[in-house]
Amino acid sequence: MLAPGSTIGILGGGQLGRMLSVAAAQLGYQVHIYAPDHESVAAEVAAHHTQAAWDDEPRLAAFAAGCDAVTIEFENVPVDTVRFLSGHVAVRPGAQALEIAQDRLTEKNFVTGLGGRPAPFAAVPDRAALGAALAEIGAPAILKTLRMGYDGKGQARLATPADADAAWDGIDRHAAILEGFVTFAHEFSVILVRGIDGETRFWDSSVNVHEGGILATSSLPPPQIVRDQQDEARALMARIADDLDYVGVLTGEFFATADGPIFNEMAPRVHNSGHWTIEGAVTSQFENHIRAVAGLPLGSTATTALPVTMRNLIGADIGAVPALLADGACHVHHYGKTEVRAGRKLGHATWVGTTPA
Ligand code: AMP
Repeated sequence: MLAPGSTIGILGGGQLGRMLSVAAAQLGYQVHIYAPDHESVAAEVAAHHTQAAWDDEPRLAAFAAGCDAVTIEFENVPVDTVRFLSGHVAVRPGAQALEIAQDRLTEKNFVTGLGGRPAPFAAVPDRAALGAALAEIGAPAILKTLRMGYDGKGQARLATPADADAAWDGIDRHAAILEGFVTFAHEFSVILVRGIDGETRFWDSSVNVHEGGILATSSLPPPQIVRDQQDEARALMARIADDLDYVGVLTGEFFATADGPIFNEMAPRVHNSGHWTIEGAVTSQFENHIRAVAGLPLGSTATTALPVTMRNLIGADIGAVPALLADGACHVHHYGKTEVRAGRKLGHATWVGTTPA
C-alpha cells in the first residue's frame, strides 16, 4: 500500500493522465508525468514532469528512481519502455497487457483463446494478402492497421472488393487486418478494475455512439439488448484480466448483435466511455485505477443516479462550453488544450440523474 505523499508515475501526458492526476492528488499522492510531447495537459496538474523520449534510458531510470509505482495513460507507449522501467519499479498494468493491446492480430488471437468472439478477421501483411483476405471474409469489411490505430484512424471501409486499392492506400499501406463488417444493434463497453489481490469490480455498461470512428456519447441505462449481453462480456473481460494478472482499469469494447456480444477491442487503461463515472458512479474509473495501482482497497463502482449522458467535446464543440456552463445540471470538463483541431478531444460534458436540455 503506497503511503500518502508517495509518487505515482504516469506514462503519457494527455487528458486521461490529467484526470488520473487529479484523482491521485485527492488520495494524497504526487504524480510524475513522463511523456515525449512538448505540451502535456497532464503535467499542468501534476507535481513533476519529465519531457523525454520513450527510449531515453538515463531519463527513464531517473524517473523510475523518483516513483513508488508507475502506470500508463497511453496504450502506445513502447513495450520496451515498460520492460525497462519494470526492472526498476512496479509498473501496473504490466508489459504483457500493453503488448497484446498494441497489435490487433495478437489481441484477437489472445481473446479468441480465452473464449471471446471477435468479428471474422484475416491477416493482411501486404497488398497481395488483401485479395485472399477478401475472398475469405467477404465484403463489406473494414481494413485496420495492426498497430497505432485509434479514434477511427488507420481504418478504411470496403463496400465491395473493388474498393481494395483505395482501402490499401487509405491506410498508407501498413500491415493490417481485414475484419468482417458486424451488423450490430448497439456498441457498449465493459470497464473493470482489478486490484493487486485480484478483486475485480465492474461499472455498469454504457451504450456508446461513435461518429466518424470517434466516440461521441456514452449513456446509461443502455438498451435491453446490452443489459442482456453485459454478463457474457464481463465474464470474458474478467478472464482476460485474470490471465494477465492485471492491475488497474481495463476496458473492453463490444458490439451487441443478434448472435450475442462480439468483442471489438480492449484498452489497458481508463477509457473515454468511462468518463461519466467521475460524477455518475460512487468511485470513478480514475480513482479506482489509482487505488489499484497504489494497492488501496477498491471503491464502489455503483452508479449513483440514472440517466447518465456523457458527451465528448470534439474540435469546434468546445465553443459550446459557455452554454454548457449555463446549464446548472451539466458537469463541464475542459482538458486545457490550446489548439482546436477537427477530431481532437478537447473536453466532455456529463449529466447525471437528468437528460441534457
Ligand atoms: P475501432 O477503432 O476498432 O474501435 O473502430 C472504431 C469504430 O468503427 C467502432 O467503434 C465501430 O463504430 C466501427 N467499427 C469498427 N470495427 C467494426 C466492424 N468490424 N464492424 C462494424 N463496425 C466497426
